[in-house]
Amino acid sequence: MHGTVLRTERLTPSMVRVVLGGEGLAGFTMPDGDPTDAYVNLAFPPAGASYGPVFDPKALKDLPREEQPVRRRYTVRDWDADAGELTVDFVVHGDAGVAGPWALGAQPGDVLVLQGPSGGYRPRQDAERYLMVGDESAIPAIAASAAVVPAGRPLTVLLVCDGPEHELPITTEADLDLRWLHRSADPGSELADELRTIDLPAGADVCTFVHGEAEEIRAIRKHLLTEVGMSRADMSCSPYWRRTMDDEAWRAVKKDFVAAMEQDA
Ligand SMILES: Cc1cc2nc3c(=O)[nH]c(=O)nc-3n(C[C@H](O)[C@H](O)[C@H](O)COP(=O)(O)OP(=O)(O)OC[C@H]3O[C@@H](n4cnc5c(N)ncnc54)[C@H](O)[C@@H]3O)c2cc1C
Repeated sequence: MHGTVLRTERLTPSMVRVVLGGEGLAGFTMPDGDPTDAYVNLAFPPAGASYGPVFDPKALKDLPREEQPVRRRYTVRDWDADAGELTVDFVVHGDAGVAGPWALGAQPGDVLVLQGPSGGYRPRQDAERYLMVGDESAIPAIAASAAVVPAGRPLTVLLVCDGPEHELPITTEADLDLRWLHRSADPGSELADELRTIDLPAGADVCTFVHGEAEEIRAIRKHLLTEVGMSRADMSCSPYWRRTMDDEAWRAVKKDFVAAMEQDA
């Protein structure tokens, strides 16, 4: 499957929205239950690839590694089935990487090969309150999730970014307590520190979503499980990316990291 770039929009200095469409998305359907953290696997061919812009990633798996497309995973920010438009919001984090720089340079007519979508989280509708925590990479999933929290229900959203110009609106009918935190010169503890200021009574029925940078997610998960007493069943936790590692390096150690994280509590 592939999408053709229809338009792009610079949402903030660190976020580019890419809207894909075209006949290459025929057959795109959201998973059962319409998850709000649905994601697609994107495939970026290396410069000078011997194959064209439209390809089947599975058919290329025997090529030497440097000729294979680079894989990255991104959230479905929106799928408009009537218009056949898929919206993906990319964090742009400097010149490093593949997906961020691609999004920054994307032009109408560019082609992006993708597989999916998959995913399974959608906030349950009967929780007493909701908690969503993450960084810019989780804004798409948190924005989509916040939009389906029942009207009037307490929802606390903690998001960390580089400064006020990087903040985005979160639209919801819930009773929203949105807190933007700005990274310090030694980033990593902002979300966990703020979380400690929030009164979350033990045993409270809180539907929780914590996605973003790996070490930050791990510390928050541990705090919520061991100090607040939340249950694992009510928590969606996902270390999306890891500071200092590109996605190849991160995927190589992710399984062990997640196993160690599971041992925390
Ligand atoms: C299920 C899932 C859904 C995701 N959804 C989204 C999404 O909707 N939008 C989104 O932007 N990301 C999302 N991510 C995270 C994204 O896949 C990673 O950030 C990915 O590493 C970016 O690839 P890249 O090629 O730009 O950079 P890489 O080549 O992977 O990394 C290059 C350098 O940039 C750093 N880096 C990577 N990501 C970030 C970041 N977010 N902020 C700062 N530095 C970074 C790395 O540590 C490395 O030093 C998702 C991840 C998962 C697992």
